[in-house]
Amino acid sequence: MDIGAWCGHCGESFRLAEMVDGGFDGRCPRCGFEFAFGYLPVASAAVHDVLTAAAALESAAQRLHDVAPRLHIDARKLNTDLTAALGES
Ligand SMILES: [Zn+2]
Repeated sequence: MDIGAWCGHCGESFRLAEMVDGGFDGRCPRCGFEFAFGYLPVASAAVHDVLTAAAALESAAQRLHDVAPRLHIDARKLNTDLTAALGES
């Protein structure tokens, strides 16, 4: 899963994984804005956790689909819930 993100300072979009490729510095890969001044370790752990959780979700859903193809996750509701959980609603 390729998680997209965007910067509230410059408005540019990027892949969240770009922030950890080559080491997390907490800065926008486009304009260099420092997202979490004073909270770099917390932000680093959180970004890594989001990426890990997304990969785990994708893997678990694939495994479930493989063994229980008639069990359907309600993707529309999940999307709505994820939007709320991300604080983007
Ligand atoms: Zn930016």
